[in-house]
Amino acid sequence: MFSKFLKLLKGIIKNYPKKHLLSILTGLVLLVSISFISKANFNSQPAQIDISLEIPLDSLKEEDVQERIEFLINKEAVIKNNDSLYSILKRLGIHENNIFQIINSENSRLLSKIKVDKKIELSINQNNEIVSLNYIKDFKSGVQAQKKEGTYQIKEYQLKTEKFKVFKKVKINDSLYIDGLKQGLPDSVIMDLVYIFGWDIDFNLDIRQGDSYSLIYEEVFVNGEKVIDGDILIAEFSNLGKKHIAIRYKLKSGDSEYFSPNGRNVKKAFLRSPLKFNYISSRYNLKRKHPIFHQIKAHTGVDYAAGKGTPVRATGDGTIVHSSVKGGYGNLVEIKHTEDYSTRYAHLDRISPRITLGKKVRQADIIGYVGRTGTATGYHLHYEFRVNGKHTNPLKVKLPNAKPINSSEKEKYDLHSKIILDELKNYQNLTL
Ligand SMILES: [Zn+2]
Repeated sequence: MFSKFLKLLKGIIKNYPKKHLLSILTGLVLLVSISFISKANFNSQPAQIDISLEIPLDSLKEEDVQERIEFLINKEAVIKNNDSLYSILKRLGIHENNIFQIINSENSRLLSKIKVDKKIELSINQNNEIVSLNYIKDFKSGVQAQKKEGTYQIKEYQLKTEKFKVFKKVKINDSLYIDGLKQGLPDSVIMDLVYIFGWDIDFNLDIRQGDSYSLIYEEVFVNGEKVIDGDILIAEFSNLGKKHIAIRYKLKSGDSEYFSPNGRNVKKAFLRSPLKFNYISSRYNLKRKHPIFHQIKAHTGVDYAAGKGTPVRATGDGTIVHSSVKGGYGNLVEIKHTEDYSTRYAHLDRISPRITLGKKVRQADIIGYVGRTGTATGYHLHYEFRVNGKHTNPLKVKLPNAKPINSSEKEKYDLHSKIILDELKNYQNLTL
């Protein structure tokens, strides 16, 4: 009797216009299952119930439901080197005609300057047609293309952000990092803190139990959701009884830097070392026996052992005054920083293409890669630090600070510094 009923049901599905079938069938299936359950209970044979339920529902799903709800599929791609809008959409399986529809729409130039590593999100309908496209510049802005009657409306958007200040005070028992995490500080904020104070404090050696720090940083919200932990606005670090204070300030140039309350730059003019190294293979030594020449030959720099190809960074802002092979130095880059200071980077495997004579570089720009050109026994960077043309031990030299706040901006800075310092003090007193 049951199989007869199934046949009948299939017959109905075939002949009846599918649009209206869903409601009827749902009702029917319900009816069948109810009658079956009661029967099954009576006969103690419940095993077949599921089968009767599945067949009619499955045959319905595909077309019928889609006519009422438009199914959108989301796809996304990260922009790669040499990508164009065309190549990305092609990769995402979009038909050429659809791509040209977008490219030929008004304002499509907004989508021509897409940047590597940014994301493009698509919503596609069942005809594989783009309904909307979103180029995400950052957490708060981008370009959106929306399908409207055969063409696309393309415009830039800017989401409204809200910033909230967060104060934290941390006493160090284990380590700067662990105790920070315990107080709920985000990873990225702790890293910023290490960067800001890393110029003055050696976090491996100088931290003692009882040291403490407090800070105000920002949290950024979009549509009521936190999107990023923002910048540290002010931080105070008490280390070995000495207080270090750093205040973030946006300069006229648009860059933001950290200064002490009286306007001294917390950064040094030079990085401690020009690369991430494995170990120091040879120190500055004016009486060293040279490993290749086996005679007393002063070692006028520091050798940092590091893998082939490790990026080498300019330790300070300056101008390239040498950028080619020079005898035993191999591939050598020399940077003149001020009248007094210059640095040399030797044995490079290769020099970055943009590092040419006369070019300006900024601190931490990559100038080349570790190699063993010239007279070198293994892969390492030979780094020299010269003051007034004389070799100086880069590990010992007292590094000058980066530029203090410009006198033309000093007055405004002083005001800002006073306000934010007061704010920090208020918070500190509240949590005593
Ligand atoms: Zn050396």
